[in-house]
Amino acid sequence: HVEAPVFALESVVAGYGEVTVLRGVDLVVWPGEVVALLGANGAGKSTACAVAAGDLPVTAGRVRLGGVDVTAWPAHRRARQGVLLAPEGRGVFPGLTVEENLRTWLTDPAPVYDRLPQLAARRTVAAGALSGGEQQLLTIAPALVRPPRVLVADEPSLGLAPLVVEQIFALFAELRDRGVALLLVEEKAAETLRVADRVAFMRLGRITWTGPRAEVDPDRLTAAYLGVS
Ligand code: ATP
Repeated sequence: HVEAPVFALESVVAGYGEVTVLRGVDLVVWPGEVVALLGANGAGKSTACAVAAGDLPVTAGRVRLGGVDVTAWPAHRRARQGVLLAPEGRGVFPGLTVEENLRTWLTDPAPVYDRLPQLAARRTVAAGALSGGEQQLLTIAPALVRPPRVLVADEPSLGLAPLVVEQIFALFAELRDRGVALLLVEEKAAETLRVADRVAFMRLGRITWTGPRAEVDPDRLTAAYLGVS
């Protein structure tokens, strides 16, 4: 690696009210890298995404973006500095058309339409009337023209048709190749491992193992999903 990690969680402790979920999470993502965060239900993956995006405050630890301490920054400020959260996304307005939505981010949506023809076909349709998959594509689409520094994707394929899931993973790979750092939480292990450069296993609010995809032990993978990693 020639640069510093673009994004880091350092000894992060966080939770909801009295309940501590993250118990000292350390996780870094380098530019141009996809890190898949895997673990059983309740391990704390979504909570880690919420902390990364600035939707949930930490009770201890630090969040860094490009070396800058952004722990105290609210979500909108992180978003402006290049942290994109999917599927929620920022600024997909259900009452505006696809075209209007894209134009809130881009002066010229043409590159998006070239890459995602189904959005071109739906350009005059209100975003709120799109399928879940199309909305997900609309969320990620502006990143093709203006790549974020970090994309945090929490179950981006949940409930979507296989074809659009494939498209979304292809977009992730493309963004990675263009230098975006991706933190990906997914239930779909096969697709996730195909796109992941590195894997981090999480259990009971801690990272239990991290390493290159090629070094992932299949038993560990099974165990992660069963919650015994
Ligand atoms: P899943 O795949 O089920 O979402 P996860 O690894 O993403 O699993 P989290 O969603 O981060 O896990 O949940 C971790 C723990 O935090 C769980 O015990 C969950 O019940 C609890 N939790 C999650 N969100 C809240 C909330 N808003 N308020 C209180 N507790 C919560």
